[in-house]
Amino acid sequence: MQRINLLSQRLANQIAAGEVVERPASVIKELLENSLDAGATRLDIDVEQGGVKLMKVKDNGGGIVKDDLALALSRHATSKIVELEDLERIGSLGFRGEALASISSVSHLVMQSKAVAEPDSTGWQVQNDGQDMKACIKPVAHPQGTTVEVRDLFFNTPARKKFLKTEKTEYSRIDEVVKRLALSRFDVQFNLSHNNRAVHQLLAANSDAEKQRRVGLVCGPAFIENAVAIDVERAGLRLWGWVSLPTFSRSQADLQYFYVNGRTIRDKLVAHAIKQAYRDVLFHGRHPAYVLYLELDPAAVDVNVHPTKHEVRFRDSRLVHDFLFSALHKALAEVRPSIDPTVTQDRTGYDATPMNPGAAQVFNSEGSQAALRLQESYKLDTSLSEPRVTNYYPGDRGTVSAKRIQAQMVALGKLSEHDEEVPPLGYAIAQLHGIYILAQNKEGLIVVDMHAAHERITYERMKLACQNEELKMQPLLVPVSVAVSQSEADCVEEHHETLLQYGVELERVASESIVVRQVPSILKDSNVEQLVRDVISDLIEYGTSERILAHQDELLSTMACHGSVRANRHLTIPEMNALLRDMEATERSGQCNHGRPTWIYQSLSDLDKLFLRGQ
Ligand code: ADP
Ligand code: MG
Repeated sequence: MQRINLLSQRLANQIAAGEVVERPASVIKELLENSLDAGATRLDIDVEQGGVKLMKVKDNGGGIVKDDLALALSRHATSKIVELEDLERIGSLGFRGEALASISSVSHLVMQSKAVAEPDSTGWQVQNDGQDMKACIKPVAHPQGTTVEVRDLFFNTPARKKFLKTEKTEYSRIDEVVKRLALSRFDVQFNLSHNNRAVHQLLAANSDAEKQRRVGLVCGPAFIENAVAIDVERAGLRLWGWVSLPTFSRSQADLQYFYVNGRTIRDKLVAHAIKQAYRDVLFHGRHPAYVLYLELDPAAVDVNVHPTKHEVRFRDSRLVHDFLFSALHKALAEVRPSIDPTVTQDRTGYDATPMNPGAAQVFNSEGSQAALRLQESYKLDTSLSEPRVTNYYPGDRGTVSAKRIQAQMVALGKLSEHDEEVPPLGYAIAQLHGIYILAQNKEGLIVVDMHAAHERITYERMKLACQNEELKMQPLLVPVSVAVSQSEADCVEEHHETLLQYGVELERVASESIVVRQVPSILKDSNVEQLVRDVISDLIEYGTSERILAHQDELLSTMACHGSVRANRHLTIPEMNALLRDMEATERSGQCNHGRPTWIYQSLSDLDKLFLRGQ
C-alpha cells in the first residue's frame, strides 16, 4: 500500500491544466480573455508553428503591479472575485484564477508587465521555476500593459503533446478563437500574425458600418450580404446581431457565433431554439449562419458550470428559449421581397462564395436576393391587397377578379410612366420554359421559380388555416397506451395543460404508464407513440416542445407541394402578377418549403457589368 504524498506545485498545476489547456488555442483564449479583462483596447497576437513553438499576446491594458506578479502565476489567485456572492454577478471573462498557473506548468511562460498604478516603474518580468514553481521577478523595460509569451507548449508532458494535430489544424483553431473574441469586442483592435505573416488586422469598430465590416471580414462578405440585422428587446432580454437568410445555409454548423453577455458559448438550449426558428425555412440537413448577442441580467445566468466556460446555465431557461425562438422566428417570417434603397448595388471586389445555388446557376453567383434587401416595412398597394382570389391555384374556379386585373393593368401602365410605386417584385413580362416568371421592377430583372413560390404561399396559407381549425383535437378511437419512466410520467402530469394547448391529451394511468386520448386531427394517422415520446423528452430537456407543430408543418408542407402549380403550366400575365403580389404579402416567401430560393434579382447595373457596358 502506497503512503499519501502532497503533490508538488507543478504536478498539481499540470493536473489542473488537463482541464483548461487542451491545445494551443486554449492558451490563446485564456491570454486574450485576461487582456480584455484588463481593459486593453489593442491586442497583438503572434503565433509560430501553430502555437506549439510560440504564442505571444501583447496588450495595452491596466497591467499588474510588481507585488502581484508572483500571485498572477499561482493557482487560486485572481483579482476578479473576492467572495462567493461575486460569482453570481460575473462581469469579467475570467474568475477561476488558474489559467496562468496551469499554462506555466506545461510550457515556458514569461510575463512582462507595467501597471498604470505604478507610473514610476519601467516594468517587471516574472516566470516560474522548478517543481515548486517559485516566481523569479526582475526589472525590464515594457510599455504600459502586459505581454505574455508561451513557448514550447507541453514540452514536459510528452503524452499530451502527442495529441496535438498538424500545425495547420492547430493554427486554424487559434484563428477561430481570435475570430470569436473579435466578434465579441468590436471596440478592441485585434492583430494576429502566424509565422511572422500578418493574418488579421481588425481595427476598432465603433459605427454600425464598421461593425458590419468586421463581421464581413471575420465571417466572409457573402454572410453579411445575405444576412438580416435584428435587434429585439423584451422582458429584460435583448437579442441583436445578424442571421443568415435561409437561402444562405451551410453544410456545416461552422458559421455560428452566439454570445451571452459578451461571452462566447455553445449551448444546447440556444442551439435548439435557433434550429426551431429556422425549422420551416431551411433545406433539410443544412445549417443556418448567425452572429448573435444575448444580453440579460448577469444574475440570471450561471457561468460557473464548465472549466473552459463554454457552457452556461440560464436561471429561467424556458423564458430564454421562448424569447430566442420567437424573436428569430419573427425575423425570418418577415423576410419577404421589398426594396431597401440603402443597399448599395456595387458589389465589386467581393469574392462571392457560391452559396445560393439557384442564383449561381442563372447568374454566375452575382445576382441574389440579397441585392434587394429584405425588410418588413413594405406595404402593398391597397388596390392589390383585396382578398386574393386567383386562378393559378389548381382546383380554383379561375376567378381573377376583373377589378384586380384592371388594377394591375393600371399599375403596368404606371410602370411605363416611371411611376415611383412599382412593387418590389415588379410586374411580369413573360414566362420562361413554363418554369420561371420574368418580371421587371424599377431597377432590374426578377426571376421567380413559380412552383417554389407557389408552394410556399400555399403552405403558409394551410398553416394559417390549420392553426385556426385543425389544431382541434380528435379523440383516438382506440387510446394508445405508452410505457414510460416514472419521471416521464411525472412530466406528463406536470405539463397536462401545456399539452392540451398543443392539442394532445395524455393521462397517467399508472406510475409508469400513460394513455394518449386525443391528438390534433391532422396527426391522427401518424405514429402517435413516437410523437408522444419525442414530445415528452423535449419537455424534460427544454421545458417546451415544438414537435407537434413541426410534425404538423411537415405534413402540410408535403400537401402544399402536391397542391402547387406544377412546371409547364401556362400562366397569363395577370396570373403571374397575382403570384408576385402574393409573394410580397406572404411570410417567409423568399424560399420554398425546402429552403430553396423562390426568386432572384439582377439589377440593371449588374446586367451592365455582365455585358461590360460602360467600362
Ligand atoms: P483569472 O483570469 O481567472 O483571474 P488567470 O490565471 O488567468 O486567472 O490570471 C490571474 C490574474 O492575473 C488575473 O486575475 C489578473 O489579475 C492578472 N492578469 C492576468 N493577465 C493579465 C493581463 N494581461 N493584464 C493584467 N492583469 C492580468
Ligand atoms: Mg484568466
